[in-house]
Amino acid sequence: MYCPLVKLKRILSDIIDIVYPRAIRCIACEREGPSYNRYGFCHDCFENLPFITDPRCEVCGRHFQGGGRCHLCMNLDHVFIRAIPVFEYDIPIIDIIHRFKYKGHTELASPMSMLMANALIDSRINFDAIIPVPLHEKRLKMRGFNQALYLAQGIDGIIGGNRLLDSALIRERNTPAQIGMDRAGRMWNLYGAFKVRDNKGIEDKRILLVDDVLTTGSTVDNCANELIDSGAKDVYVAVLAASILPKL
Ligand SMILES: [Zn+2]
Ligand SMILES: [Zn+2]
Repeated sequence: MYCPLVKLKRILSDIIDIVYPRAIRCIACEREGPSYNRYGFCHDCFENLPFITDPRCEVCGRHFQGGGRCHLCMNLDHVFIRAIPVFEYDIPIIDIIHRFKYKGHTELASPMSMLMANALIDSRINFDAIIPVPLHEKRLKMRGFNQALYLAQGIDGIIGGNRLLDSALIRERNTPAQIGMDRAGRMWNLYGAFKVRDNKGIEDKRILLVDDVLTTGSTVDNCANELIDSGAKDVYVAVLAASILPKL
C-alpha cells in the first residue's frame, strides 16, 4: 500500500546519504570502524542512544509512563502547545551537544538536525514557519554561531521547504547563565528578553521554535509568549534533547 510517510522517510534517507556521507569515525565514541550508519554513529553507540520512547507526555514530549501530562507539565502553564525532543539529555548526547556548542564542531548540526527532522515527521505536527531561539549578539560574537540556527537550517533543508525565519525573533537583552536556577528564576531572568523584530510570516501562523535542549521550558515559553503577542497562532518546539523527567 502506498504510504506517503514511508516514501518521505526514504527520500530523507537518500538526502542524508548525499549530504552526510558515511563517517570514518563514530561521532559518539570517535572510534574508527566499518559499521557507521547515516548519522555517523557506530552500531554499538547508535543502539545505546537515549532515544525518547513511548508513552510520552503530550506537552513536553518526555517519556512518561502514565501518558497524558507528566507531573512537570501538570503544574506548568506552558505557552507552547507541544515539544518534540529526540533524546533524553544523557550520555553520549550531552557530550555531542557540548562539542557542537562549545568546541566549534558545527558539522554535528547536520546529523542532529536529521534526527530532529525524523522525529518531526513522526510527530505529524504541521507548522508554517521555523524560528530558531536567538542568541544575544554578545554571546553570538563569543561563540561565533547560533547552534539553534544551525539546527533550524538543517530541519528546513530536509522538511521545511524554505520556511525558515532566521531573524524575525531577536534576543534584545543579554541574560545571566541559567544553570542552577529553578523555573521561576529562569522565567523572571528571561522576562522581556526576546522581541519580534518583524511579524511578517508570524501573524496567524503555526510556528516551530527550534533549540538544542529543553530543561524547564522557560526559554521557549518566553519566546512563545513574544510570538503569540505578535499574532502567532500556535507555537510548537523542536529540540534535540530534553532533561530527564525527575522522579516524583
Ligand atoms: Zn561509537
Ligand atoms: Zn511534560
